[in-house]
Amino acid sequence: MDYDVVIIGGGPAGLTAAIYTCRANLKTLVLVGEVLGGNAALTDRIDNYPGFPEGIEGPDLMGRFRRQAENFGAEIKMEEVVRIEDLGSLKKIVAETGEYVCRAVILAMGAKRRKLNVKGEEEFLGRGVSYCATCDGAFFGKSPVAIVGGGDSAVKEALYMADIASKVYIINWMEEFTANQKDLKKAYDNDKIEIKVNKEVTAVNGDSLLTSVTIKDVLTGEEEILPVEGLFISIGLTAASDFVKGLVETDEDGYVITDENMHTSIPGIFAAGDIRSKKWRQVANAVGDGAMAGISVTEYLKE
Ligand SMILES: Cc1cc2nc3c(=O)[nH]c(=O)nc-3n(C[C@H](O)[C@H](O)[C@H](O)COP(=O)(O)OP(=O)(O)OC[C@H]3O[C@@H](n4cnc5c(N)ncnc54)[C@H](O)[C@@H]3O)c2cc1C
Repeated sequence: MDYDVVIIGGGPAGLTAAIYTCRANLKTLVLVGEVLGGNAALTDRIDNYPGFPEGIEGPDLMGRFRRQAENFGAEIKMEEVVRIEDLGSLKKIVAETGEYVCRAVILAMGAKRRKLNVKGEEEFLGRGVSYCATCDGAFFGKSPVAIVGGGDSAVKEALYMADIASKVYIINWMEEFTANQKDLKKAYDNDKIEIKVNKEVTAVNGDSLLTSVTIKDVLTGEEEILPVEGLFISIGLTAASDFVKGLVETDEDGYVITDENMHTSIPGIFAAGDIRSKKWRQVANAVGDGAMAGISVTEYLKE
């Protein structure tokens, strides 16, 4: 047995769970795939997390979570988990570069960006195509870019890019936006932002780097080429649960089903945060889930 608890994911849920398990003197490892701090660390500003009346930058907030978890003794390793083996009272975690045996697991892998699945999307990934404007936007200073999506994240990313890029297109496949009205008005009022509704991206074009995207009017079928050097795809999130499907019970969208104390269908495996099947996904309730999962693991291991 290497650890009492292995937490998979280093976002708000995973780091909060680590604070609770470490405070209960459980030897805790946090394994983090790509992003320490999770989606919250990729958000330039968080205004609705309690305790920060003026708002706080996402990376700053998540740096604080990390320091607090480490201060209590959490070990954090940047390793993507690929498999969990249920050995009964022990669990084996197989990561890309190591294997760890533990007594309990907390799944806190959150959600990842949904893909468009159009021609050129994969080919130009990292060469113009990105799923995170706040991470990659600075590469596109003074260039024209497009954001695909109509939700809060897409419109926020367009406003963010308007301060950096020469021109920003928002491409939404329908007339209505699900983004909040305040941000949407700001986008309509911004001279640099041009909003294209009822349009879908059909191809991503370029040579070695992205040079344009092809968009099609969903009502008339008419095509248009937009000359852009950056394309930010912001069309929602999907559960990062691929490697636990078939092991723990998930809902039809792949989110992990738990009870209110964060127990999954397998004893010794818990889940917290955006990976859970639930209606709303925010930092504040990811933190609540993480705390609950930490407490439940502590109770489970005592028993
Ligand atoms: C653009 C955007 C803006 C947002 N703005 C706000 C906001 O203003 N206010 C608010 O409250 N919420 C906001 N949210 C939502 C908030 O970020 C999430 O609810 C919160 O981050 C969920 O935390 P989590 O720990 O459950 O998951 P995540 O933050 O998604 O963290 C998941 C962690 O798991 C890791 N991981 C995934 N798969 C593996 C694997 N196989 N192996 C190891 N590690 C893995 C990831 O690298 C990451 O560290 C926003 C989200 C987005 C995308």
